[in-house]
Amino acid sequence: MSEFPFKYHLRISPRSRSIRFRVTPAHGLEVVIPQGYDPGQVPALLKRRQRWIRAALERVESLRAFYGPAAAWCLPGRIELPAVGLAWAVTAKQGDNAVRTAVREAGAGQLLISGAIDDEPACRTALGRWLLRQAHQHLVPGLERTSRELGLPYKRALIRRQKTRWGSCSRSGTISLNAKLLFLSPETVNYVMIHELCHRVELNHSPRFWRLVERHCPDYRRIDAQRRELWKAVPRWADAP
Ligand SMILES: [Zn+2]
Repeated sequence: MSEFPFKYHLRISPRSRSIRFRVTPAHGLEVVIPQGYDPGQVPALLKRRQRWIRAALERVESLRAFYGPAAAWCLPGRIELPAVGLAWAVTAKQGDNAVRTAVREAGAGQLLISGAIDDEPACRTALGRWLLRQAHQHLVPGLERTSRELGLPYKRALIRRQKTRWGSCSRSGTISLNAKLLFLSPETVNYVMIHELCHRVELNHSPRFWRLVERHCPDYRRIDAQRRELWKAVPRWADAP
């Protein structure tokens, strides 16, 4: 699979001043070198960074295996958010322009998407905004509650739609949660929150960090082991277009 030596695309960038590695689902491993840099140096650098590169390639491969080469776009007929035990039937209504493509509640358990319903990027943008609103409404209060219960404060909560992470915690105390957590079980969401809050004490994955996680979530090993599989629960429309 992703073993050294890696296959890579080489790109020469007149504007960049240092060598950069990028791993994306579309292009795999890309090495960007400044103009005038000797490409013969690249294999030695790749060898030195091979642990990071292998991990990044594996993440991208598991995403690719799930999405397949070209799944066709269609609007979801139903949206379920197991994390908060909510579900909606989705109705689509053709409108005049893409700018006003919007998703709104239309009665109990009903969502209406209106506007350019054949325009995939417009629909995904509108659905994505709706998903972010749901995440703000449900995940942020959940994080606050867990933080209080555990006595592990944080500075700021952000909701994002990361491609390869469920959550993260910055040095400055900002916890970012992935809106796509809403597609997972409450138990998993709780674990991700505990994991990130424990990073407020240990900003690493040392044995001390895992002991702290275990104290608050004794079953963490089983949940953490499923972390990569869980991306399969995320519908395609939920990713940023
Ligand atoms: Zn972590």
